[in-house]
Amino acid sequence: MKKIPFLRPNLVKKEALLPYLEEIETSRMYSNFGPLNKRFEKRVLEEYFDNIGDAATVSNATIGLILAISACKNPKGKYALMPSFTFAATPLAALWCGLEPFFIDIRPNDWCMNEELLEDTIKKLGNDVAVVIPYATFGTYLDLTFYQQLHKSDIPVVIDAAASFGVRGKQGHFGKSFPGFVVYSFHATKSFGVGEGGLVYSGNREFITKIRQAENFGFSSDRTSNLLGLNGKISEYTAAIALSTLDVFEEKIKKRKQIYSWYVEQLHQNDLLSKGWTLQKTEGDIPHQFMPLTCPKNIHNHDIITFLKNDQIEARTYFSPPCHLQPLFSKYPQTSLTATNQIAKQIISLPLWEEMTEEDVRKIVGRLVSFK
Ligand SMILES: *Cc1c(COP(=O)(O)O)cnc(C)c1O
Repeated sequence: MKKIPFLRPNLVKKEALLPYLEEIETSRMYSNFGPLNKRFEKRVLEEYFDNIGDAATVSNATIGLILAISACKNPKGKYALMPSFTFAATPLAALWCGLEPFFIDIRPNDWCMNEELLEDTIKKLGNDVAVVIPYATFGTYLDLTFYQQLHKSDIPVVIDAAASFGVRGKQGHFGKSFPGFVVYSFHATKSFGVGEGGLVYSGNREFITKIRQAENFGFSSDRTSNLLGLNGKISEYTAAIALSTLDVFEEKIKKRKQIYSWYVEQLHQNDLLSKGWTLQKTEGDIPHQFMPLTCPKNIHNHDIITFLKNDQIEARTYFSPPCHLQPLFSKYPQTSLTATNQIAKQIISLPLWEEMTEEDVRKIVGRLVSFK
């Protein structure tokens, strides 16, 4: 029986890279914001953000989060408020900035941070709040109105938008014109995959100037360190992959959306959505990174994973265990995490990669139907 892997990243092929590689051999610029990197940032800003704000590439989204938190955190603050239902990179970035994660529960429908609980917590903590880090869960076009208001009231906001590059909604690309920071990942397993890479965007151009300085050892124009920096730049080779990915990204988006809609169709046709299986309530057009859903409450998600594995279908449980149940993070403060704990027991991440066929999807959903 043919194995269906969870992910099968499909980066641009060498032929598409060649013209860009030849440019590198001519320019002899291999890093340090070279011409390919500049062209990539310019195209991204034009094609995805209508030339509003600015964006800087970074070596990965974790470094992007660290740089963004470090650039905007309230210097007297102690806590980084974030959901526990996120990837470990979010609390790790806060720790590297000398902050403690403070975990807030999620909403049971869209699996994003519960804004009422967040507001209560901010009131309780007052000046101890250093930064708020919402996660746009699995790429949903999260309404940023609340976070825009927080930003206005001098509470810094960094959005973990790791899975959101290419996501569009009512007001264009996700994150566009947001006045705080928005951090996207270009890891091979994300929809815009270049291997390792990321992007920090802000509606405020000065913020991005600061990120460019910070990711280059904190150097100002006289090459002296002026702020706490590190090396977070991408090489021109990564920029070459990024540019050639941009050339074909709209096709990739289409394929991913097609596969997601096959899943939804199959789940409906097999009546699973009226039998306790649920989809994340999402907004916007999302080129999904994988296929998340929750199983009925009386089933344990790990039993499904094992069942699928016996049929050569590889599935995961992102993000379970949630951060607050992981050894490094379990000692940090938290609100009650009822919804997080419940979703964590039910979450299943099904395969989604660009060459998957409708037949693959039918087979996977068919196995869910036959689970007893
Ligand atoms: C992938 C991911 C990251 C980390 O991105 P990298 O580019 O691999 O550092 C951070 N947060 C979330 C929610 C992610 O899914």
